[in-house]
Formats: sequence, C-alpha cells, structure tokens
Amino acid sequence: MSTETAEPTESESSDEIEEPESALETARRQLQHAAAHLDVDEGVIERLKHPTKVHRVAVPLKRDDGNVEVFTGYRAQHDDVRGPYKGGLRFHPHVSEEECVGLSMWMTWKCAVMDLPFGGGKGGIVVNPKELSHDEKERLTRRFAEELRPFIGPKSDIPAPDMGTDAQTMAWFMDAYSMQEGETIPGVVTGKPPVIGGSYGREAAPGRSVAIIAREAIDYYDYDLEETTVAVQGFGSVGANAARALDDWGANVVAVSDVNGAIYDPDGLDTHDVPSHGEEPEAVMTYDAPEKLSNEKILELDVDVLVPAAIGNVITADNAGDVQADLVIEGANGPTTFAADAILEEKGIHVVPDILANAGGVTVSYFEWLQDINRRQWSLERVNEELEDHMLSAWDDVRQEVESRGISWRDAAYVVALGRIAEAKSVRGLWP
Ligand code: NAD
Repeated sequence: MSTETAEPTESESSDEIEEPESALETARRQLQHAAAHLDVDEGVIERLKHPTKVHRVAVPLKRDDGNVEVFTGYRAQHDDVRGPYKGGLRFHPHVSEEECVGLSMWMTWKCAVMDLPFGGGKGGIVVNPKELSHDEKERLTRRFAEELRPFIGPKSDIPAPDMGTDAQTMAWFMDAYSMQEGETIPGVVTGKPPVIGGSYGREAAPGRSVAIIAREAIDYYDYDLEETTVAVQGFGSVGANAARALDDWGANVVAVSDVNGAIYDPDGLDTHDVPSHGEEPEAVMTYDAPEKLSNEKILELDVDVLVPAAIGNVITADNAGDVQADLVIEGANGPTTFAADAILEEKGIHVVPDILANAGGVTVSYFEWLQDINRRQWSLERVNEELEDHMLSAWDDVRQEVESRGISWRDAAYVVALGRIAEAKSVRGLWP
C-alpha cells in the first residue's frame, strides 16, 4: 500500500494539479512546517533532514528450483537521540532507499509524539513476497537478518512487521539473529507471536488507538458518542479493529468498505458480523446491507466522523470539497494530501493525523520490547490499559498545542514531536 502523500508547492493554490510527493519529501516538508512554529536551532533541523545511516545489503536466495537470485535490502536509521531506532521491515517490489529514509523519518516523529524512548527506522527488501514460496520467504528472511545483524539489536535498532511481512516473518528473523548471537534475544524485533515474546494486543493496537483518538475527538467537539455516525474506509487490520471498538463503545458505524466498495446502513452495521480483511479478504460487499456504494462515495457520506483506514492519498484536492464529515481521524498512513488538508481546514473539518491516531502499533511494540527485556508477559487487559493511558497522554499533549497556538491537529502533533527531539538534541549537544 502506498504511504506517499501529494502536495503542490507552497506557492500553488490547492485547485492546481497535485503531483505525488515521496515519503521523504513529505517528511522533510513536515519537519520544516513544524520548525516554523518553534524556536529550534537551525543546526538541529539540518541534522534531522538527513538519516544518520542507511544500510544497503545484498540478500542472496536459493530458489526452490535451485537457482540463486540476489535481492536488495535496506535499513534506514533516521535518528536515535531519544533511543534505539524503531520501525518496520517491508517486503514489496516498490521498496527503495528513498522510501525507507522518508518512512524512517515518519517513525521518528511518531515515536516522539507518543513520547516513546525510540527513534525512527525503516527497511525492507525489494521483492514481491507473493512470488515466493513459504520456504523461500523463510530463507530470504533469515539471510536478511544475518546481513542486518551488525546494525540492529534490542539496544540499537528494533524492526517490526510492515507491508508483506508478519508475525511469522518476525519469528524467523528473531530465530536467525538469536542463533548467531548464541542466545535467545526476543527484543531484537517486535510483532512476534506471543509464544516467543510477542505482546497480546499488538495486532489490534493501531486500530484500537484510532478508536481511542476518535472517541476523544468526538468528546472534545461535544458530540454524544451514542449518537455519532462513523464511516470507515478499509476493513483490514486498522479499519476493522477501529470500527469494532467504536461500535462496542456505542458509536453508530453506518458504513465500511474494502477495495471492492462500501456497505451502508443508516441504522448502524453490526461490525463484528462484517468479515474483516484478515477473516475473509475483500468480502465486505458480500454482507447483506441496505445500501451499497462505491469506495469513493464512502469518503463523501454525510457522517460525523470519517476514518480513512485503507491506503494513502485517498482524500485529495479532487474530492476534499465533497467530504461532509465534521471530523477526519487518519487510520491509514498519509490518507490526506497536503492540498486536501488545506481544503478541509478551510471547510472547518478537523483532521487528526496518522502519527497520533494510528500510533498504537508502535506503542504496543514498545510494551513488547519492555516485556522481552524483563522476560515477563503482560495480560491483554494490562496492554489495553497502558495503551489507553499512553494514547490519552499523547492526545492531551497535542490538544494543548492546538489550544495554545491555535494550530491544526496535524501541526500540533509535529510541534510536540519536534519539540521533544530538538530538546533532546540540544541537551545532548553535538559530539565532538
Ligand atoms: P490491511 O491489508 O489489513 O487492510 C487494508 C484494507 O483496505 C482492506 O480492507 C482492503 O480491501 C482495503 N483497500 C485496499 N486498497 C484499497 C483501495 N484502493 N481503496 C479502498 N480500500 C482499499 O491493511 P492495514 O494493516 O489495515 O493497513 C491500512 C493502513 O493503515 C495502511 O496505510 C497502513 O500503512 C496503515 N497502518 C497499518 C498499521 C498496522 O500495524 N497494520 C499500523 C499503522 C498504520
């Protein structure tokens, strides 16, 4: 799935054609944007524009037919002033060095806004995992772990699952790393199965955090949760978990969608009955609902809250004018383009950004890392309680910036993140 966002340059008006912007351009622009609100040393901003290190490795794989193919892998390490690098490993044909660097910067902001003791990292292999057998995927993962071994570790850089990788991939990765190190080191990656040190609640956490932030925003803008209508685009890990939590807490989830289209029931859907992507891929439209809509139309429904939770760049200059929701809570990474953001702001629609709303994933990864270091597993109840506390605390920090500076939720989230990183850099100083 794309995480790119698009924007015209600052001088262009929002109704001109939007050019797709790379993750790196987005990350750098957001850095500059936030810096304008803060009194931060220019030298710190300059340092943050560049990743600390980018590792490029060759990953040879013996295919099932005996032939050897060599794939390229990357690990971008953006900044570790607040703690070890943290971020996913993706297996996807579009992985590139630039994308890894951009996404590692996003991880730096995301960890900082959540006040986690981590910096940003991201990596992956340029490969289509759908073209690999199970055994080939395992061999590729183990060799990648070995190639990255000198650069990662529980105290230096902790990968996690991302597009094309999952809990099983992390198990192989952890096993390969541990075998070479001569001891079991579960804290080298997060997102593992619970039986080998993974955390309960990790898979549901990004969607759960979206729901917590949506609930807080609903309350902040004086809506009654029981009467609030919600539409969720994308019914996968993030979308389904967010929709079901909001439904459980009393909200009226009236529409959900997948890549094939949307279902709509003005009286509210039973979200637990609608098959999620994980339960039955792309089966939302098979559900018996009073109305079916196109996937684009779900973004234009007259609801109180819209949660885009499928892919990036879905709310653009072309359709932002048609959005009728009062609140947009970003579940996907980068669902709103820069130009669309400006249009939504003009219309008085509040947008709560991805780096806050879906940060439950990396937050529970932090809990997993703590559990691994302490060799003590937490119950699901404890994970969810701690997640709630962390999300509320981050929400409060961002809310204070919104109120005191009169800025958008997105700008406020970046101000909180950059403020923390800049302060840490300034206190630690530049060596030598
Ligand atoms: P997923 O694969 O579990 O589900 C994606 C859903 O979106 C599916 O229902 C799919 O049918 C739908 N979809 C795909 N393409 C679409 C399109 N063109 N239009 C409309 N719907 C489409 O994915 P996920 O893990 O839920 O991730 C969704 C988004 O959230 C991504 O942007 C991802 O980067 C982001 N995210 C995921 C996590 C995580 O840990 N899962 C954490 C943070 C952010």
